[in-house]
Amino acid sequence: MHKIQDWLARPPKYTTFRINSLRKFEYDKLTNYLIEQSKELNTTSIPKFYLLRPDCLVVEQWTDDVKIENGNKIVVVDALCAAAVLRGAHVFAPGVMGLPSGKIIFKFLLKVNYDGKKKYVGTGYLKMTRNELFDNGIQASGIAVHTLLPASRLPVINETLYPKGTILLQNLPSIVCGWVVDAKPHEVILDMCAAPGNKTTHLAEMSHDQANIIALDKTPQKIASLQKNCYSHGLTCIKAFVFDSTKCCSYESDGVHQGPPYPPNSFDKVLLDAPCSGLGQRPQLINKMTPKMLQSYKFVQRKLFRSAVEVLKFGGRLTYSTCTVTEDENERIVSWALETFPCLSLVPAEPLLGGPGLPNCGLSDQQREMVQRFSPTDDSLRFVDPIYKDTIGFFIAQFTKLK
Ligand code: SAM
Repeated sequence: MHKIQDWLARPPKYTTFRINSLRKFEYDKLTNYLIEQSKELNTTSIPKFYLLRPDCLVVEQWTDDVKIENGNKIVVVDALCAAAVLRGAHVFAPGVMGLPSGKIIFKFLLKVNYDGKKKYVGTGYLKMTRNELFDNGIQASGIAVHTLLPASRLPVINETLYPKGTILLQNLPSIVCGWVVDAKPHEVILDMCAAPGNKTTHLAEMSHDQANIIALDKTPQKIASLQKNCYSHGLTCIKAFVFDSTKCCSYESDGVHQGPPYPPNSFDKVLLDAPCSGLGQRPQLINKMTPKMLQSYKFVQRKLFRSAVEVLKFGGRLTYSTCTVTEDENERIVSWALETFPCLSLVPAEPLLGGPGLPNCGLSDQQREMVQRFSPTDDSLRFVDPIYKDTIGFFIAQFTKLK
């Protein structure tokens, strides 16, 4: 248990971006940007970066010799903001909890509890005055502190370095999830819990904008932002609808070319990237989830799963994923699904880049090997490249539907 808690408390050592494969990715732009940063950090080397696959960019940390002098002033930020800084983000105004008066602040810290315990998360330049942040009577927005060097030594890379929709900060297992779905031109694909569309846009891009993708989400604002994302990525093959996916199957439907609901056996591929407890997020500096909340997710996951099975074509592929590490929302959903739907068969969620499923959670050794779990598990069942061991916690399983 301690092993996983320690792992969750630390940020991953790599930053990953998804590259829009329909656009040209200019390597030199990133090199030049990092060279500029290296001058500010007084170093001659820049972090290593490379394409793991044509649609996945990996950026490593600054080397150990990069040192930065801490000032004597501090900005206190909340835990969520601190986690973002550790992953290489700037501090946005709503995350600031407090700061002393003065113009330039060199160091900012996390207030872990209200008892004064703090953790250093990075160093940067203050961009807003105390007055702008707190004294205007309205919630301030924008960058409050420009991060120079997070304590994690991850580089700060802004997506705006490239035209909108060219690169997207995305966790490695989420990118792997797209590879597992493996969208092809002309396939009819349902993304049941799609917003903000990070996986939907990946699927569209890998199909060269030629799949027929339906994206559903129950929250109207989230569908609006998904639509904006599709536009900035230059994608036209995605139709998005506000809809409760637990009800996305109906015998009275007119077919997949209309809005939801859809007739049974309609989709070649279904992605159920389920709402979950999100316990795989790293670093996890604070968690306010109650045991009751934690228990609640499996019920909605099962409801969504039922609909997913109904709308999937015979011979089609259903991909189930979560960004959490609990067995209830992962391995036990898989074993429940295999018991509940005799038409379903588990297939290897290839490419198998994470570790196997947990033992003693309802899956046989053979079944554990077909799923992928990104967490510090015993991965003696298969070789896992180190980069896939230092990601957020995540789970992926894939099924096919038999007659
Ligand atoms: N797939 C998304 C991506 O990669 O960008 C992330 C999806 S997030 C894990 C889960 C989403 O499920 C949330 O946006 C939430 O609004 C949506 N959701 C929850 N319950 C739903 C339901 N019954 N029907 C449709 N969407 C639902």
